[in-house]
Amino acid sequence: MWIDTHCHLDAGEFDADRADVVARAAAVGVRQIVLPAVDVNNLATVRELAHRFGLAYALGIHPLCVDNAGDGALARLDAELQAHRDDPRLVAVGEIGIDFFIPGLSRERQEHFYAEQLALARRHELPVIVHVRRSADMLLKHLRRHAGNRGIVHAFNGSAQQAEMFVELGFKLGFGGAMTFDRALQIRRLAESLPADAIVMETDSPDIPPHWLYRTAAEREASGDPRQARNEPAQLPRIAEQLAQLRGVTPAELAESTTANAIAALPRLGALGLH
Ligand code: ZN
Repeated sequence: MWIDTHCHLDAGEFDADRADVVARAAAVGVRQIVLPAVDVNNLATVRELAHRFGLAYALGIHPLCVDNAGDGALARLDAELQAHRDDPRLVAVGEIGIDFFIPGLSRERQEHFYAEQLALARRHELPVIVHVRRSADMLLKHLRRHAGNRGIVHAFNGSAQQAEMFVELGFKLGFGGAMTFDRALQIRRLAESLPADAIVMETDSPDIPPHWLYRTAAEREASGDPRQARNEPAQLPRIAEQLAQLRGVTPAELAESTTANAIAALPRLGALGLH
């Protein structure tokens, strides 16, 4: 069995066939899926989806959403975490983090929201799901400043040295579709060489389609079907097959280790039934 530790099932790309997407995943052995919130206005949506489909969820504010999050957003998140503290499907605070790739975002505001949400996670005794893009050193700086946060750095794309530092701090690193591209040398090298207990699987769907689904923006437009290049959790076993090959293990061995790692990173997953 597989666990997809990162899927935005609330995204509009899934509006037409959400139940089929979940069923297709279950049919190929993806037995649990974690739905991270991104915006203070979709906290209730991911919680409801997780309950409707027997899945897991995280509550948090994504770095790309902090500029539009009002000043009361962190207090609202705190209240939601408090209100649902006994919900076994609430497995983490996320998606939080810092993005230095997308231009025009306020660095100060991103840093502030990240630090405050790390503190919320410690207070509510939940792990975190972290977004990293050109920001690994800044993320690490805050993690070192206050000990006690654990969790997953999703779609990891930093250096080997940065990976090692996250692992030392007790984090697992998420790998998915990016690793299927031959030109993703850095990610493939990491996927190959990291210790087996450091890796969890994810799709980040509908984003980061594996190479066999990838279409350029022009191709998508020409096809007239926005779903054409959509990623989905049912792709996870095929993505994982590539990782198993890179690491010289069987898919079954990889399924076992990455499932154990996901539960170690997000302990409440261990008590959840499989859908
Ligand atoms: Zn995400």
